[in-house]
Amino acid sequence: MIGLEIHCQLTKLESKLFCTCKANYRGFEPNTNICPVCMGMPGTLPRLNKKAVEKATMIAMALNCKTPQRLGFFRKNYFYPDLPKNFQITQLNLYGPTSIGEQGKVSIEGKEIRIRRIQIEEDPGRLIYEGVSERTAITLVDYNRAGTPLVEIVTEPDFDNPRQVRIFLNVLSDLLENLGVSDPTLEGAMRADANVSIEGGNRVEVKNIGSFHDLEKAIHFELTRQTSLKERGIEIAQETRHWDDKRKITISSRSKEEDEDYRYILEGDIPWVIMDETSLQGWKKNMPESISSKKERYVSKYRIPAQVADVLSSDKYYSDLFEQAHDESNAKEIANMITTDLMGLVDTREKREQSKLAPKHLSDLVLMMNSGKVTRSSAKNALQEIVKTGKSVSDIMSSIGLAKISDESELGKIIDDIISQESTAVQQAKENPQTINYLVGKVMQKTKGKADPTITLNLFKKKIGI
Ligand SMILES: [Zn+2]
Repeated sequence: MIGLEIHCQLTKLESKLFCTCKANYRGFEPNTNICPVCMGMPGTLPRLNKKAVEKATMIAMALNCKTPQRLGFFRKNYFYPDLPKNFQITQLNLYGPTSIGEQGKVSIEGKEIRIRRIQIEEDPGRLIYEGVSERTAITLVDYNRAGTPLVEIVTEPDFDNPRQVRIFLNVLSDLLENLGVSDPTLEGAMRADANVSIEGGNRVEVKNIGSFHDLEKAIHFELTRQTSLKERGIEIAQETRHWDDKRKITISSRSKEEDEDYRYILEGDIPWVIMDETSLQGWKKNMPESISSKKERYVSKYRIPAQVADVLSSDKYYSDLFEQAHDESNAKEIANMITTDLMGLVDTREKREQSKLAPKHLSDLVLMMNSGKVTRSSAKNALQEIVKTGKSVSDIMSSIGLAKISDESELGKIIDDIISQESTAVQQAKENPQTINYLVGKVMQKTKGKADPTITLNLFKKKIGI
């Protein structure tokens, strides 16, 4: 059995969970994005960020969770250098359901994964380890992250294998991005711990996993380790293990704490938060269209193939581009252009940030294609240039000359050249007309994709007499 605890940062918020420091701590000098509240100075009081409650509730709703009538906050006490208050403010269902959501479910490939609980909590600071050996080891503390808003999602142990875990995390990551609450591509924005157990064995928690890729490996490793212990008749200890990403193994770190070890107490500085129906309804109404609903709409309204609609709807960057670029007449072509020609040009976070492409570029290009002024292959070349420079489609057409060649005499000259160079292929085409595509390809190569494919084909056939 495999269960997950996933921490998601609400990276799109302005301020931290209980003070006015920036939620986006990235890019600051160490220990400059701090104040007496997030440093836990005596006499300071936390003030709950209402937007964090709103965004976390949206996540709970999107994961089909029940929302509570009131929210409660608790102190989880433990001493660690990254935690200046010596306690973390988090949530717990100690007096009935008071966490942001519970009893949700998500379906992945026909398998239902139940969500046990969703809670809001603050992220601790960051410890940075420096030094090359044990003797010169230094630990630096940066509190810029301390107090930033997190949502913790706890699943039931419903996963059968590591592959399901990976699919679930991809779905969750797309969902968070689509809701506009988090940017999961930011380093550390989504972190997961796994609880792994095999039949008849105790539960082992694996922490400190840096990436989803490693998470899959860590689960694999644990399943193998536990099975081998069981086969040798050794009891599997209930413990917390750390993932060592250099050696690719899990290492026992401490016996597992129980809830009692944290001495949870109600956070008396934050009153119960009543979740009134009007706010809940308002937030629900403001939620962006879900990925599945977008996909359905793309298929039913525009007859976009399901596979294309899938790619388009699950990536917020692509679906936003599509929504702004398309109209009734060109939806299918725009969808195609995004999911085939554009995809490789903007497949990473960095490329997307640097890209100069605007939605209008796409609609202009499709218009040029539909009116026969450029070939598909030229449009692809133009896209490359647009992403790089942001120049308008008409500027690019005139500056690098991408206009389609449909002039028969111009094409005829090129075809004559190729006929004289490719006598074997010409002979083959005469015997087996299918192979003429090779020759048409040669014309495309020579014209950098600008030759009109239909005119070229017909002209070629005429010239070699097939
Ligand atoms: Zn602060």
